[in-house]
Amino acid sequence: TSFKGLGLHTSLVSHVQEKMHYSHPTAVQRAAVPALISSNPQDLFIQAQTGSGKTLAYVLPIIHALMDSPETLTRESGLFAIIIAPTRELASQIYSVLESVVRCCHYIVPGIVIGGEKKKSEKARLRKGVNILVSTPGRLADHFDNTEALDLSAVRWVVLDEGDRLMELGFEETITKILSEVEEKSRVHLDSISGLPNRRVTVLCSATLKEGVEQLGKQSLSNAVHVKV
Ligand code: AMP
Repeated sequence: TSFKGLGLHTSLVSHVQEKMHYSHPTAVQRAAVPALISSNPQDLFIQAQTGSGKTLAYVLPIIHALMDSPETLTRESGLFAIIIAPTRELASQIYSVLESVVRCCHYIVPGIVIGGEKKKSEKARLRKGVNILVSTPGRLADHFDNTEALDLSAVRWVVLDEGDRLMELGFEETITKILSEVEEKSRVHLDSISGLPNRRVTVLCSATLKEGVEQLGKQSLSNAVHVKV
């Protein structure tokens, strides 16, 4: 299977192949991408190691969907996806993958809040508008206290990356808070932007089933497809 065979937009496929130099999708990408770009995507549990290409497996479908409305999408259109990672290092790695993919479509604005800078400048960046946000749990929850900066009404995708480490590092309660805040604030069923799923999709990635990941899955996913590579 090629990237094109997965159903991704032609311009995204050429970006991935010609600019990012990936010739073929990895196993986890072959399984996850078609599931996530379907018109009615289900939640997804991705059981895969780091190194499997799991980041692109969830990033490509999000970009694909946002590419459907280039003429109407701006940074003010809303925060569509939140990607949560257990550590700053991992969040930064995910952000750099995200940055290299969004070079295909400059109208999509990625952002990262992981602390390590003044909360005020993070807030300012959030207030300017970000379409896809990468964050660590604690820092994200901090920003919830300032609802003016972080509008969750458009959130379509929540990705919990390295679920086993999120649990291991004791983020269970913070994740619960984040999920319920998104549940409460997102108004996805009320807007209809072409190409975007009209329900919220949650993706949980984990290398293992240890550390209460099953518990995290029960809490965050409904009716999920399980992809194991
Ligand atoms: P990840 O599992 O997302 O941490 O990705 C691990 C590594 O795989 C990264 O360094 C990517 O550059 C690389 N990678 C991701 N997708 C592909 C692909 N389709 N072909 C070759 N390498 C890839």
